[in-house]
Amino acid sequence: MLKIGCHLSASLGFLGMAHTAFSIGANTFQFFLRSPKSGKNIDISEEDLELFRDFNLKNNFAPIVAHSPYTINLCSSKPMVRKFSKKMLRDDIKKLDLLPGNFYNLHPGSHTGLGISKGIRFIAESLGEILPEFKNTTLVLETMAGKGTEIGSTFDEIADIIDFSGNPDNIGVCFDTCHMFDAGFDLSKLDEILSEFDKKIGIDRLKIIHLNDSKNPIGSKKDRHEKIGKGYIGIDVFHKILTNKYLRNLPFILETPNDLIGYAEEILILKNLVK
Ligand code: FE
Ligand code: FE
Ligand code: ZN
Repeated sequence: MLKIGCHLSASLGFLGMAHTAFSIGANTFQFFLRSPKSGKNIDISEEDLELFRDFNLKNNFAPIVAHSPYTINLCSSKPMVRKFSKKMLRDDIKKLDLLPGNFYNLHPGSHTGLGISKGIRFIAESLGEILPEFKNTTLVLETMAGKGTEIGSTFDEIADIIDFSGNPDNIGVCFDTCHMFDAGFDLSKLDEILSEFDKKIGIDRLKIIHLNDSKNPIGSKKDRHEKIGKGYIGIDVFHKILTNKYLRNLPFILETPNDLIGYAEEILILKNLVK
């Protein structure tokens, strides 16, 4: 069965998000554990987690994905930002670890002038220190569009981060289709892309797909998401992605510009596409 969901507001609580996901035909979802811009925490109650676990089991939900706040930057040129980012990351994973078997999605970071290799070292150092402290959560590094000084728009950069962090078991990768297309990957050549990924990183590390079309042509590095089939990537490529033998069993998360009704329609379109 297709594992599919979309980004939801954590203000609903875990049970609320699960109910909402269920109501639009989803069996997973993504959320921010804290405000994406201010980094302020969202309250989680023991009772909410308990009810959520029950609901998940009964309804056969797929793993869920917590998305890091944009304020986390492990490779900022400012030492204070790096320090605060590590603290937020540790606190977030500690929380998510209460719900075993789920994913924490991280933007690798922007080096803000330090240069790519120094940036990669800083990210890897922090992950190498933090990840071995946790057993229940897998951190996934999101592939980026390469906007500004963003790190993680090539498989080489992601492979280096994983290698230099000491290859912890609980590190993986999230493909964001809009970001990859914007970074210059021709997604219609999916087999070639996956074989490059396997060679450089290992296909087992691929855990999550962010399913987004792009408002801009290939290689534009703009990172503007579009509704599925309405952008430059096109519906045929999404069919390829959803049915690929290495991808079809992974959780797909929509981050397209939609309200709930729009997401429900998009999920239905995608389910029909793979029928
Ligand atoms: Fe993201
Ligand atoms: Fe994304
Ligand atoms: Zn994006």
